[in-house]
Amino acid sequence: MEKIKLNRKWCKGCGLCIEICPKNVYDREAKVSTKGFKEIIVKNPDLCNQCQLCELLCPDLAITIEKTKKDAKVNK
Ligand code: SF4
Ligand code: SF4
Repeated sequence: MEKIKLNRKWCKGCGLCIEICPKNVYDREAKVSTKGFKEIIVKNPDLCNQCQLCELLCPDLAITIEKTKKDAKVNK
């Protein structure tokens, strides 16, 4: 099940999510898009520990982390 939802319409490509993620989940596309920046991709979703830092810090509210019961137990 997908845990990380990245709303590309809202993302402005600031790169905070890449900087802050302790698990290197995010990366950028190789080429600049029509929006004028290299768009963010969820490269390693399986590495996400659901710390929610990216969701909290994204200035454009473009990220949603869906916590599952199973994962919540793992984090305890
Ligand atoms: S922090 Fe938000 S706005 Fe900035 S690059 Fe990441 S998803 Fe896009
Ligand atoms: S919730 Fe934490 S580990 Fe998962 S993508 Fe966001 S910052 Fe990275």
